[in-house]
Amino acid sequence: MEPEQKPPGGADVNLGPLCPHCSEPWLRPTNLPGRYRCVSCLHRFELASVCPNCGEHSTIVRMSSTAIVKCNNCGDSMLQPI
Ligand SMILES: [Zn+2]
Ligand SMILES: [Zn+2]
Repeated sequence: MEPEQKPPGGADVNLGPLCPHCSEPWLRPTNLPGRYRCVSCLHRFELASVCPNCGEHSTIVRMSSTAIVKCNNCGDSMLQPI
C-alpha cells in the first residue's frame, strides 16, 4: 500500500476541523479569537470554555491559526453553534 501522492501545485491539503453542522472540514478561524465559521454551510461556532459533553473545564490555548477544538478529557468537540 503506497501512500497517496500529494496533489501538485502545493495545494493546501491541511483541512481544518470538521464542522459540527455539515460535517465538512471547512471550519476556518475568524477575526475574533475562539470563533470559527464554516465556509461550506456558513454557520458560525465558538469554542466553549466548558466541554458540552463531559463538563470538564478546558484551558483553551489561543493561537492565531491553530486552536485546540477538542476536549482534553473526553475528546469531544468544544465547538458550540452561535
Ligand atoms: Zn458547516
Ligand atoms: Zn469533555
